[in-house]
Amino acid sequence: MNSTAELADIIRQSKILLQAETDSGIEFPHLKKPVASVEEPQAAVAAAPLPSQTLEELKSSIGDCRLCKLCEGRKNIVFGEGAENASIMFIGEGPGMDEDREGRPFVGGAGQLLTKIIENGIGIKRDQVYICNVVKCRPPENRDPDKNEIKACIPFLKKQVEIVRPKVICTLGRIAARELLNRDFKITMERGRWQTYGNIPLMPTYHPAYVLRNPGNEKKLKGEVWQDIQKIMSLLGIEVKKNS
Ligand code: URA
Repeated sequence: MNSTAELADIIRQSKILLQAETDSGIEFPHLKKPVASVEEPQAAVAAAPLPSQTLEELKSSIGDCRLCKLCEGRKNIVFGEGAENASIMFIGEGPGMDEDREGRPFVGGAGQLLTKIIENGIGIKRDQVYICNVVKCRPPENRDPDKNEIKACIPFLKKQVEIVRPKVICTLGRIAARELLNRDFKITMERGRWQTYGNIPLMPTYHPAYVLRNPGNEKKLKGEVWQDIQKIMSLLGIEVKKNS
C-alpha cells in the first residue's frame, strides 16, 4: 500500500470503530482506557440485545444435530468453550480430528499455538476467552466446510456471539472472517485491519494451522499474528508484557 492508501485505510478503520461506539451507546469499560490514536482507535462493546438463552441451553438445543451431512462422520459435536462473559471471542473454521475426538475446540497442534497466544501472549487463561468455530462438526479430511454446512450451522455461532457479547471478536483464517463479514475475504491482504460484526470490533488474523503449515515462513506469520493480537490488547487496555 502507498502512504495515501494506508492513510485512507487508517481512516476507514477508525470510522468503523467510532461508528460501532456511537451505535452501541455504551461506554467501553476498559481496565485501563488506552489513549486514542489514529492507529489504535477506541472501540465499542456489542449492542446485542440481552441474551434470551444461556450457552448451556443453546448447547442442549443442538442435541444430536442432523441439519447437515457432517453429522454422518462426526464423533462429537464441538460446540465451543470458555467464559460466558468473555471479552475476547476466537472463532475458527471447524473442528479437526483431535477436536472431533475430544469434543472441544482447538485442542490439537493449532490449538496449542492458540493457547500459547492467549496465555503467553495476551497473558490471560484460556478459559477466560471464548473459543468456537463456524461449523460444529468435523468436515471429512479437514476440507473447508461447504455452503450448505455453513448455512445449517452458522445460526448457532451467531447465537453464541449474541449470548457472550464479547468486546472483540478475533477470527482465525479466511472462512470465519468471510462468514461473519458476509463477503469475500482475502486473508493475506486484509488481516490485521479492524472490521465490525454488528457493533463488535472484529480483528481478522491468520489461522494458527496456516502458520504451522508454513514452516519456512513461520516466524514472519507468527509476527503478523502477534501484531494483530496486540491491536486487540490495546483496544481492551491490556498491557503487552516485555517478554511476550
Ligand atoms: N481448526 C479450527 O478451525 N478449529 C478447531 O477447533 C481446530 C482446528
